[in-house]
Amino acid sequence: MPETPEQSAAGRFDTVLIANRGEIAARIQHACRELGLKAVAICSEADKEAPYGSTADSFICIGPSSAAKSYLNQDAILLAARLAGAGAIHPGYGFLSENAAFADAVEKAGLIFIGPTASSIATMGDKISAKRAMMTAGVPCVPGPDTALPDDPATIGRIALEIGYPVIIKAAGGGGGRGMRVVPKADVLHEAIALTREEARKAFGSPSLYMEKFLEHPRHIEIQVICDDHGNAVWLGHRDCSMQRRHQKVVEEAPAPGIAPDIIQPVGLACVEACLQIGYRGVGTFEFLYEDGAFYFIEMNTRLQVEHPVTEMTSGVDIVQAQIRAAQGHVLDLTQGDVTCEGHSFECRINAEDPETFLPSAGVVTHLALPAEPGIRVDTHIHAGYKVSPYYDSLIAKLIVHAPTRAEAMARMREALAGTEIEGISTNIPFLRALFEDDAFARGETDIHYLEQWLKLRRAA
Ligand code: ADP
Repeated sequence: MPETPEQSAAGRFDTVLIANRGEIAARIQHACRELGLKAVAICSEADKEAPYGSTADSFICIGPSSAAKSYLNQDAILLAARLAGAGAIHPGYGFLSENAAFADAVEKAGLIFIGPTASSIATMGDKISAKRAMMTAGVPCVPGPDTALPDDPATIGRIALEIGYPVIIKAAGGGGGRGMRVVPKADVLHEAIALTREEARKAFGSPSLYMEKFLEHPRHIEIQVICDDHGNAVWLGHRDCSMQRRHQKVVEEAPAPGIAPDIIQPVGLACVEACLQIGYRGVGTFEFLYEDGAFYFIEMNTRLQVEHPVTEMTSGVDIVQAQIRAAQGHVLDLTQGDVTCEGHSFECRINAEDPETFLPSAGVVTHLALPAEPGIRVDTHIHAGYKVSPYYDSLIAKLIVHAPTRAEAMARMREALAGTEIEGISTNIPFLRALFEDDAFARGETDIHYLEQWLKLRRAA
C-alpha cells in the first residue's frame, strides 16, 4: 500500500535548529515545544545571555557579535545543526530567511528548510520575476512592465511616459524599504536612475531596476497564505500595514478596515491560485497597495512575517506551527471553508529607539512591566536585566491585542501601552501611545504616507 502523506511525514525531523535571535527565536521555540519537537537555539557572542538559550534543548554560540559572522554565517549554522542533530532549520524572518542559496545549502546538507523551495524563493526574491509570475497567475499588479529597465535613456524615458508620472524606480533585488526612488517628473528621471542603479549594485549586488506607477495615496494591504506539499493552499484573511515610517511597518492590524468582503475575496483566491501555480510550500505573504478600490501586487514575502500574530489572533490558526507541519510533509488540516476570521487585532512594534529622533538605543533594561490582561499578547525575549545590544534590529517586543471590534481593539491597545513599562533604555512607546489617540487613525482614514505626515505635524507643533 502506498504511504499516506501523514505516514511519509512521520520521522521527517524531530529537532529544529532556529537560525535567528530575539523575539522570533523565542516564538519559534515555543511552537516547536508545543509540537513535541526539540529546539536548538543559536547565538552570537552578544546574545550569549538570551533567555531562549536556557530553555532550548541545545544552545550553540556560532560566532562573534557582527551578524555577518554569526546569524548570516551559513557554514557555521549548518555545522551547528549537524553537531546538535537537527533535522530541520527554521530561518525566522530577516537574516537568511529569504536567501535561496541558503535554502539550497540546507537541503543539500540533507536537512529540511522550513520554508518554500529555493526556486520559489529565487523567483519571488527578484521583484521583476515575481511580478511576471503574479501577472501570469492573474494577480493584479502596479502598472508598469514586468521586465528590467534597459540602459538606453531614450527607451527609459518612453517607458516612464507610457506609465505616466509620478513613477517609482525600484531595485529588482531590493528589500527592507531600500532601493526605491520616486520620480515626480521627466527632468529628474535620468539622475534618479543613475543613483538607484548605483545603490542597488552596492546594497543588493545587482544593478537590475524596474519602473512602475507611483501610487500617491495607497494603503498597504497584505494577504497571508499557507500551503502544503500536496497541492492545498488557503488564505487566512488580510492585514493593513499602512502605518509606516521610512517604508518600515510600525503598527499592523487585521482585518484591514473598511474593505468589503466581495472586493478582497477575488484577490485572496488569486493569491491561492498563484501559490498552486508556482508550487509554493509553507507560509507566505502577498503584499498589495490598495487605492481607489483597486489592489496592486507589489511583492511576495516567502517567509514568516513580523506581523503574523494579528492573523493568528483573528483566524485562530497558529501560523508557526502550521508552517512547521507543512515542512514535515503533513497535509494542511484546514480548508478555505474552515477559515473564519473573528474580531479585530492590532500589533505595535516596540523598538529600542528614541521616540523623537528614532535613533537606536542600546543598554540594560532596568525595569520591565508587561500587561497580562485577557485579549493581550506580548511576544518578546527581554526581561529586567536584559542587555539590548547595538548590533541588531531594534525590535524588542511586539504588543498584540484582540477584541470583538476595531474600536474595542484600539481601546485595548491603549490599555496595553499604558501598562507597558520599560526603563533603562529609550523605546518608541510614548510615540505609540500618542498615535493610538489619533482621530483619523481611529476612523481608519490613513494611507502609507499618514504616519510620516503625522510625525511632521507633531514636530512642528
Ligand atoms: P521592500 O521589499 O523594500 O519592503 P516593497 O516593494 O514591499 O519594498 O515596498 C515597500 C513600501 O514602499 C510599500 O509598503 C509602500 O509604502 C512603498 N511603495 C512601494 N511601491 C510603491 C508604488 N508603486 N507606489 C507607491 N508606494 C510604493
